[in-house]
Amino acid sequence: MGLRSFAASLPAALMPGLHKTAPEPTQAEAASFDALLHRLTYLPKGDIKRIREAYKFADEAHLGQFRASGEPYITHPIAVAGICADWRLDAQAIMAALMHDAMEDCGVTKTELIERFEAPTAELVDGLTKLDKLQFSTKEESQAESFRKMLLAMARDVRVILIKLADRLHNMRTMGHMAFEKRRRIARETLDIYAPIAHRLGLNEIYRELQELSFQYIHPWRHGALSKAIGKARGNRRDLVSRIERDVVKAFADAGLKVEIQGREKTLFSIYKKMREKHLSFAQVSDIFGFRVVVDELPQCYLALGVLHQLYKPQPGRFKDYIAIPKPNGYQSLHTTLVSPLGTPVEFQMRTETMHMVAEKGVAAHWLYKAKGNAQAVQQLGSRWLQSLIDIQDETRDASEFLEHVKIDLFPDAVYVFTPKSKIMALPRGATPVDYAYAIHSDVGDHCVAAKVNGEPVPLRAELRSGDVVEIITATGARPNPAWLSFVRTGRARSKIRHFLKNLEQEESQELGQKMLAQALRAEGLALPSLDAEDPEAHALWLDLARWAGNRNVHELLVEVGLGRKIATIVAKKMARMLAAQGQRPDAVTLTLGRFGTDDQTTQGQITLDGSEGATVRLASCCRPVPGDDIKGYLGRGEGLIVHTAECQVGRRLFQRDSEHWIAVAWADEMTRSFEAAIGVLMKNGKGVLAQIATAVSTAEADITHISMSDESQARETAEMQLLISVRDRLHVAEVLRMLKRSPAVLRVWRIKP
Ligand code: MN
Repeated sequence: MGLRSFAASLPAALMPGLHKTAPEPTQAEAASFDALLHRLTYLPKGDIKRIREAYKFADEAHLGQFRASGEPYITHPIAVAGICADWRLDAQAIMAALMHDAMEDCGVTKTELIERFEAPTAELVDGLTKLDKLQFSTKEESQAESFRKMLLAMARDVRVILIKLADRLHNMRTMGHMAFEKRRRIARETLDIYAPIAHRLGLNEIYRELQELSFQYIHPWRHGALSKAIGKARGNRRDLVSRIERDVVKAFADAGLKVEIQGREKTLFSIYKKMREKHLSFAQVSDIFGFRVVVDELPQCYLALGVLHQLYKPQPGRFKDYIAIPKPNGYQSLHTTLVSPLGTPVEFQMRTETMHMVAEKGVAAHWLYKAKGNAQAVQQLGSRWLQSLIDIQDETRDASEFLEHVKIDLFPDAVYVFTPKSKIMALPRGATPVDYAYAIHSDVGDHCVAAKVNGEPVPLRAELRSGDVVEIITATGARPNPAWLSFVRTGRARSKIRHFLKNLEQEESQELGQKMLAQALRAEGLALPSLDAEDPEAHALWLDLARWAGNRNVHELLVEVGLGRKIATIVAKKMARMLAAQGQRPDAVTLTLGRFGTDDQTTQGQITLDGSEGATVRLASCCRPVPGDDIKGYLGRGEGLIVHTAECQVGRRLFQRDSEHWIAVAWADEMTRSFEAAIGVLMKNGKGVLAQIATAVSTAEADITHISMSDESQARETAEMQLLISVRDRLHVAEVLRMLKRSPAVLRVWRIKP
């Protein structure tokens, strides 16, 4: 028990009679539930009854389990609940503390806990169980910071963190029976993760103890040596301390100021840190002890400061006003360093009782105040977040509101997930596996096809939660889906997907341009020269052609042909001339095939469409061609290829205007997707008519993608309606028309043509 008894006995050793903390119960006392009950007197009777039930439940669950020290396991949860009771935490938290290891160790389910103890308590236990599963393994400092944030994000409720800290504190206090290496690992984790969290929450008392215990376990020898040195120094300075104490007490009495003076000694860990950071020997660390002056009212802090500055000379530059400007974790005090009669510097801290409580207990002060009913003192607190926390602990408001508020200020608005190799990644709340994939690498994002979270397959749009282990499955041929844009949360994923899709459009355009140029060249009796960059002759030819066309390279030229910005026949004619200049003649066979073939459809090498063309080929919205319709392609300027039905009036008018823009297109044998056809329906107006139409369409195994109806038709006896239906081909359209005709409400149906 070396350290703890040392810490507890410290003020007494320094200055007997001045300040005494309540005696700590012994290990055996603390372990019994009855002893815990004595510390729960701040709670109403009804709460005690429920807490007793939770205790019985936990006791049964842990029956037959023992700690490394040989004690029954239940002594641990009782001790944890005891620490929470010192903070005056509510009944739900005390119950959760008693049952905090029950789910993990004893196979108790959350449903069981909800049934017996209701959801709020079950949620706390569940939250604690989840935190327990996280183990911090890497040594990187940046990862420690992420890990701390992840813990906070996962806990969501500040009570979970408080119980977890109590749990860790008790484990640290009782590690004596563990193997050296295990002790050291836990101590390291405590120092890196839990002590900073305690600090962030302003729980300075615990923060110091966790640091001190960690130091003892990580560096037992250094700790021992330093402890001895301090003991010696304490003996040497005893006279000095008593003298200062006498002077100070007298000065305050003369000034008529009622104060409480406490002696305080720096922790071993903070002395060790100072020695290491500033490269000092122990003898050079002068300010190992100091005094704390606790006053009733805030203005008295400044009065006390005046009294002390009159008594001894202050050291310039050492005065700090943390009352006017509190530390980020809510800490408030005046600090000053005085030169003692023997020339050694001594630090003094001035604060009110309320500030003292916040300084020692931080966020836990909320429950302490609540128990004391001391709302007025709170008004004096100035810290931004702690002030706002304590402001709302107004009696009239409810505890959940307080917790809500803590959440906003404290818990990060992000999710922290693990890679399969235990690296932590931070993502915005609502992020999905796709966001994660792009955060890893854009290649992973571009090729991801599926995801696993904690070993289970999940949809790519699933929302990730803190603590999830995320694994992405990729496939070489896979590409981003435009639909991802509707659910990704990160700007990175969004821009990468857009970038890829834009490139894809270029690729598709290039492919189309190449097909069209090949077709136009065939009409000249020529074959498309090789596009292989390894073929120097062909390469030079292509480059000349691109330059002639005003493009930087072949790729750009083909894209522009594909998009219709350059006319294929003109480019082909130029190429024919260039080939002729090189001495190449049109090939008779190709020429014959290209011009006089019997079957136009195949010999002209028209462009075949199978629905996979993407943005470069559009089906005209006037006639909405579907497979099976006779079609023609119009190469608009810069808009790519637009396909009309052969009979479309709009298409015919365009053909008359500039016929050289038309190229042959045909449907492929197999389609890769469905198409939309437009259908007009004249029907009787009445109830249930729409349902009849919908049934008819689905009987034909088609889907309605859009319905529009003119407003005036509502009042009349008949109504006209336009449907867009998703179909396979022309035959499928006919089938839909047939089914619609059978419907009694339908008077007439037709396919819409301009
Ligand atoms: Mn535990």
